[in-house]
Amino acid sequence: MDLKKLNVRDHLITIVRRIVQIIAFVLVNYIILELIFSINLIGLESILKILPILNSPRNPLSNGAGILEFIFFSITEGIIPVFLIGILIIIIIFTARFFCGWICPIGTIQDVCAAIPTKKRIIKPSRHKSLLKIKYVIVIFIVILIIPLGTTAIANPAFYLDYRNNLGDLGNKPLSYFSLSEYIFVFFPDMVREIFQTNTLDPIFSNLLVFFISIFYLILIIASVWYPRIYCRYICPFAAVSSAISEYSFLKLSRSPVRCVGRTDCGICEKECPKQIRILDEPYEFFTGKGECNFCLKCKEKCPYDAINIKIG
Ligand code: SF4
Ligand code: SF4
Repeated sequence: MDLKKLNVRDHLITIVRRIVQIIAFVLVNYIILELIFSINLIGLESILKILPILNSPRNPLSNGAGILEFIFFSITEGIIPVFLIGILIIIIIFTARFFCGWICPIGTIQDVCAAIPTKKRIIKPSRHKSLLKIKYVIVIFIVILIIPLGTTAIANPAFYLDYRNNLGDLGNKPLSYFSLSEYIFVFFPDMVREIFQTNTLDPIFSNLLVFFISIFYLILIIASVWYPRIYCRYICPFAAVSSAISEYSFLKLSRSPVRCVGRTDCGICEKECPKQIRILDEPYEFFTGKGECNFCLKCKEKCPYDAINIKIG
């Protein structure tokens, strides 16, 4: 084995991904650049809004929630956004979950936490399998909640307005309550600011639900130090939709049956995978971890036998 070559390759993939993640983080939160350089980057807003990631629609930094939020919002208005759905499917078919692994700022934050050198924990496979379903339940819950809006927007405006009113923010930004970004960068900082302004804990007691959900997401962020990408794995609604599509993506990984020495003699790829994918139980020809793979390429870079390859088609 050529150790020198292995080192260069290991570092190269990591370095390129980190650079892409930093650039994407700054561009998505483009107000950072506007503040530093006194420039106007408002033109980026329309691109951000259709990026296949889950951001926070109310985040003053980003101003864009991502394409799925737009699709869901259109449905609440009684419109089936065929064009947007088509764009989303095409992007994922061609790029798999590359945007999750390389572009999404919430993913980047979890990767920063996971970069803290600690022994990574594995969740019991049967429990992991059950937990993976949470994000699908969340999407189904949102769809059930917004379908009455979509079907009555034109047919029954009185019911529509009443129901929309009852849903509150959930009707206007259906994904935001499940967006970690929304809580960590909008609701929670707002609450802390109000606490300081009023010098009381009233802001917490007047919105206990927001407080507890914010704490839950903060715990998830901390947990991602030991359980990489824990929010992406189990909660992110965009992950649910993109997993279902990316199973059929042209972009995949394959494992060489000739080079791979298997779990007993190696198994490094599985230990390194931030999504806890049982790579060695997947077919050799191609694998996506049932759509869970975010194409971070960590398995490829760490494999000492160069057994994992990118497969197109
Ligand atoms: S790291 Fe490479 S050689 Fe080792 S088990 Fe995984 S694919 Fe096989
Ligand atoms: S299977 Fe490989 S590329 Fe996919 S998430 Fe796991 S480590 Fe990353």
